[in-house]
Amino acid sequence: MAPPPKSAHELLDFINSSPTPYHAVQTASHLLTTASFTRIHERSPWDSTTIHPGGKYFLTRNASSLIAFAVGHQWTPGNPIAMIGAHTDSPCLRIKPVSKRTANGYLQIGVETYGGGIWHSWFDRDLSVAGRVLVKIKEGEFEQRLVRVTKPIVRIPSLAIHLHRQSNFDPNKEEEMVPIAGLVEEVLNKKTETTEEKGEEEEEFEPLKKIDERHHPESSVGGINDEFIYSGRLDNLDMTFCGIKALIESVKDPKSLEGEKGIRLVACFDHEEIGSLSAHGADSNMLPAVLRRLSVLPGAKGEKGENSNETAFEQTLAKSFLISADMAHAVHPNYAGKYERNHQPQMNKGVVIKINANQRYATNSPGIVLVQECGRRKKVPLQLFVVKNDSPCGSTIGPMLSAKMGVRTLDLGNPQLTAHEAQVLFT
Ligand SMILES: [Zn+2]
Repeated sequence: MAPPPKSAHELLDFINSSPTPYHAVQTASHLLTTASFTRIHERSPWDSTTIHPGGKYFLTRNASSLIAFAVGHQWTPGNPIAMIGAHTDSPCLRIKPVSKRTANGYLQIGVETYGGGIWHSWFDRDLSVAGRVLVKIKEGEFEQRLVRVTKPIVRIPSLAIHLHRQSNFDPNKEEEMVPIAGLVEEVLNKKTETTEEKGEEEEEFEPLKKIDERHHPESSVGGINDEFIYSGRLDNLDMTFCGIKALIESVKDPKSLEGEKGIRLVACFDHEEIGSLSAHGADSNMLPAVLRRLSVLPGAKGEKGENSNETAFEQTLAKSFLISADMAHAVHPNYAGKYERNHQPQMNKGVVIKINANQRYATNSPGIVLVQECGRRKKVPLQLFVVKNDSPCGSTIGPMLSAKMGVRTLDLGNPQLTAHEAQVLFT
């Protein structure tokens, strides 16, 4: 039996280090910095001392969205930009601004649902807290820090079946989905530990092995032949990882940008799960603003391109291509009837091109031909997906970005089972 590919473990590391969009951007930034990409800022001017042909760069917005790109040595203004777009966020429970709650002796945490989660899967699991905090360093100076509590500190227990005999579990999201964090009494009686006590204290007896010794890490390789990846947030950290990795790999050979006339770019957005409309979501000016500034970037010899810079942006848009990379649905053996009979993507049988006549996906035939050609050259199998006419269809950042910029776009993604669940695995 062949061991799982190295890239599978790299993906697991990426997902396990990225519980929130902030962490995902931090993890991606680390990968890019290691691969000699330079961090630039939107607030600075991008003159030829900042960005030049042959260079590799990245920027972030709100620390939760990221754009990375590499400029070809042969770049001139108005040339094409090859893009991959993905998203960094996943459905989750967000702590409310005022989260403190107590009821019947329990300490509880008020949460908001973020995105369209499969909320019943969040019950009876170890949950924890992660995110970012802004710390005041000194007067007028704040610093961002990422936080991640690695031990399970909250849980949402379901009601005992004895008290609640029903086949459909459809929890009330406001009243029944409030995580329990502890007991009120424990907090009131909690002794403040003195140094004296601490010194005397022997290591506390633990009847069970430590939590991290008893539990699998969040994501893992699984299946009888190690053919699966068990993980939450595959939508869409899998495609975020693939996009970042693809860009890094494509410029690994220093010669790879020598003959390149265009720019290779990957954009990973926050807020896809709630519609993308925010200052740094896919429906913001983030990508158009970056593309406009890149489109007028002078070439290596300072040439201004064959046309004036006034139209370079529109020329670039007309010549560019965007792959909107978001996960796709693999056929579920227990619900095969929910899938269109001739469009049932299989696990490990190739990347899925997503098509929808009602434009929930931006894929069109020129895009399919182009991606098919790429697949042929690199021997990557492809599959096709459409939903049944009587089924709702998901959507993603592809249609809105292509509408906003008029760039040729194709929606694709790796096939997965379920989506928006808490975690596939946690024993
Ligand atoms: Zn997604």
